[in-house]
Amino acid sequence: MAAKTPKQKTHKKPAKKAGSKLGRAAIRTASGSSGASEYSASLGASEHSGSSGASSSHRRELRIAAIRDGTVIDHVPAAKVFDVVEILNLKSHKDVVSIATNLGSKKIGKKGIVKVAGRELTKLEVDEIAVVAPQATINIIKDFKVRQKSIVEVPAILTAAFKCSNPKCVSNIQPVESRFEIISKSPVKAICFYCERVMGGEEIRLK
Ligand SMILES: [Zn+2]
Repeated sequence: MAAKTPKQKTHKKPAKKAGSKLGRAAIRTASGSSGASEYSASLGASEHSGSSGASSSHRRELRIAAIRDGTVIDHVPAAKVFDVVEILNLKSHKDVVSIATNLGSKKIGKKGIVKVAGRELTKLEVDEIAVVAPQATINIIKDFKVRQKSIVEVPAILTAAFKCSNPKCVSNIQPVESRFEIISKSPVKAICFYCERVMGGEEIRLK
């Protein structure tokens, strides 16, 4: 039924015209200067604002783009950088993430840095990072500046994220949450709540 074609009014176009004019203007501005110099200038600006008054010892870190708001996890042993990435589940993070590793550090030898924009860490995440990187520092960044800096602290109890190194442990066979008590903070040593296996160093692994 009702197969009549509806009346169409076709005089509705000024909005689009204004938009395209604006677009053209923006493109012209962008291409006015050479692309390359503009890129390096903006990079320089963000690095500068991220480190006003930085000493030469900080220069190495500036090779990683600064973030405006978020969290920087520094002084992570190079071998543990990707554990931090996993703890924070950064594979699915939608904002900027920069990861650098094998940087020189007077404090811990070779270190890594993880910068996460638009994210603050939970207490549990900080506790888990402390286990893999007991000397890590957590810097909360607001408007390119460090607003709060803290050193992680190894927790007394570990749950869920870590795996018992004993393959016969009930926590590896049954669907139960792993659980460990920390018996030494430096170096980190943990004892399994179920099988009493003592783990340290490389034996302490994420699930
Ligand atoms: Zn166990």
